[in-house]
Amino acid sequence: MAEYRKRYAFNCEYYDVAADLIRPYTLFYYLSDGTIEMFDERTKRCFLKRTTFPLDLDALDIDRHVKIFGRQLKIVSYGDAFTKTAFDSVERTYAMIKPGTFEHVPSIISRIEESGLVIHRLKSARMSEEIAGRLYKEHDGKSFYPNLMKMITSEPMCVMELRGEGCVKRWRDLMGPTNPETAKRENPRSLRALYAKNITYNAVHGSDSSSSAERELGIVFGDDGKCPLRSTASATPFCTCVVILPHAVKEKKVGSILQHLDKSLPSNAFISAVQMFTLTPEQTKEFYAVYEGATPEYSAMVRHLSSDSCVAVCISSESEEIVGKMREWAGPKDSVIAKAIRKESARALFGYDSVQNAVHVSDLVEEAPVECGYFFKLLQ
Ligand code: AMP
Repeated sequence: MAEYRKRYAFNCEYYDVAADLIRPYTLFYYLSDGTIEMFDERTKRCFLKRTTFPLDLDALDIDRHVKIFGRQLKIVSYGDAFTKTAFDSVERTYAMIKPGTFEHVPSIISRIEESGLVIHRLKSARMSEEIAGRLYKEHDGKSFYPNLMKMITSEPMCVMELRGEGCVKRWRDLMGPTNPETAKRENPRSLRALYAKNITYNAVHGSDSSSSAERELGIVFGDDGKCPLRSTASATPFCTCVVILPHAVKEKKVGSILQHLDKSLPSNAFISAVQMFTLTPEQTKEFYAVYEGATPEYSAMVRHLSSDSCVAVCISSESEEIVGKMREWAGPKDSVIAKAIRKESARALFGYDSVQNAVHVSDLVEEAPVECGYFFKLLQ
């Protein structure tokens, strides 16, 4: 292809609030001069003529949002093979935090983030027999297979897609050898040396090659993008919702925030579910509905929460006091004020202002189960 003609194409959706319609566009990016162009797929007409635009190519990906002159577009797929090859070349791996290790999810996420790998998908789940059978097909018939199946379906666990150059090997290095005794000898800082109980309950799993990763990611996250595994969220008897906001996810603070949260939990409460979501603006409006007209930051809050991936957390507890306790943990809404008067609060430590304030937490006892239900029932 002639250099001046090389362009990336993305199939996008724009939610037209006034018409309550989703409108399809194709977004083009010309490599030779950094211009963009938009085509309206409904009217089959050019919508935006070629114009220079500072498009952040690193931020472009399926399910991500991109803002073009005030219009927030969701990228739904690559528009052609050239674009797919260029953007799909990033290495991926399937990672699992196995049953028996759920309490270490915050520390393990921290280690992943520190390593530079990107968590692209994350869901705490209960593994079903059917999915486990497909995942571990190669071990069927081996002596340890029955124990392996029993272990993997026994307790809450976490499934993840990690991305980054050389990530299959980098994640396996971080995990350490399969047998924890070997791990302790050969790589004492590895996750298996630190968290494995024995060779069956060996804390974590990672694909052994890129082709295994593709197979395993397809099984666990669904080839159609719908994860078939049940979430671990528990709303009984009480629960509250924490949402780690996109700026903090991008800055790789998820593990640190979860560790800070975990340390602050009362003994009658625990993290029952963690999951990454990319909300559309309309979903964000639904979630933030009670704040419309009630806070001057409402529009900026919607823009920020729908700008990229967030991580929702369900905290389950024996007492409804958990809602107030988590509000206290988060600190004043404006991180500037939090830094002045509640230095140890999450918003003081991880946020910047009243919009990019690191975490959203449920405000009211009545709202908390509705917010948990939004992420962990409605969006499943
Ligand atoms: P792999 O597919 O090699 O990651 O193996 C999957 C899992 O099977 C390991 O992480 C262990 O939990 C289990 N496993 C593998 N080899 C053995 C073994 N020799 N004895 C018991 N469990 C094993």
